[in-house]
Amino acid sequence: MKPALIVHGDAWEIEAETYTERIAGVRAAVEAGWAILARGGSALDAVEQAVALMEDDPVFNAGVGSALNRDGEIELDAIIMDGRTLALGAVAAVRGITNPVRLARLIMEDTEHSLLVGEGARRFAEMKGMRLAAQAELTVPREVERFRRFQMQAGYRVPAGLTPNPMDTVGAVAIDVQGNVAAATSTGGVHFKMPGRVGDSPLVGSGAYADNRAGAAATTGHGESIMRVVLSKTATDAVERGFSAQEAADYAIALLHERTGGYGGIIVVDPQGRVGYAYNTPHMAVGWVRDDGTIHAQVERQPGGEG
Ligand code: ASP
Repeated sequence: MKPALIVHGDAWEIEAETYTERIAGVRAAVEAGWAILARGGSALDAVEQAVALMEDDPVFNAGVGSALNRDGEIELDAIIMDGRTLALGAVAAVRGITNPVRLARLIMEDTEHSLLVGEGARRFAEMKGMRLAAQAELTVPREVERFRRFQMQAGYRVPAGLTPNPMDTVGAVAIDVQGNVAAATSTGGVHFKMPGRVGDSPLVGSGAYADNRAGAAATTGHGESIMRVVLSKTATDAVERGFSAQEAADYAIALLHERTGGYGGIIVVDPQGRVGYAYNTPHMAVGWVRDDGTIHAQVERQPGGEG
């Protein structure tokens, strides 16, 4: 069958000055994933590669460029899931890794476990010969400045709804020529989070889900809301009930808001190879390959929204 791929580079209030870099990063991720799918490669390889590229790009809050927690440290979350076997690998609150999505893939393939956290995850990365990175290597000046601003706000609490503070996550979902689907997500999590805080992103069914019978989905947005409605699984369940990728994405985001008041975005691919996305945040950066083979990469905004 004809492969398909859709990636996102965050949904929130995306700062206008990052549009150009962000669109370029999303486009590069689509190109990298598509190069794999177009030569008959697997959806799993495509989503891993697309996400790893965005982890390497400092404009995104994933891998290099991630948000700092309240201790000024970076703790990363990621997941990858194979829709053919329902195998998954995930990593949470890990430090000093540039590509958590690649570590998630190693956890999926080379351990009997699905989710490793913190120091254990880091030790496994070291054991597998992954390069460990100093905190400084992952930290960018933009995030240090943001951290200082948060520090200055006395009594600051991680907000429950939409705030002007951008969050970020990157993700990709794909279907390959064999009809296998896969999903991957990676994030530095919410800015100024409590040390040890884990969001929806590495949680199976919340941050991502993939099942050949039901397509694949990956989310971004307020993790504490997303996990309450198991957003990715909610979308793929809808696909299994007969919704298209777009209908399922719309349905999942409407449900997120109706049930939790939360904000976020989602990308979906269905088993027929159609892609869809939806968001109730002001913006969402998305990219996919159109039917004619050209790439759409854009920071989308709500109809009638500003900026
Ligand atoms: N969902 C992520 C989290 O809560 C953040 C985001 O997507 O912006 O960790």
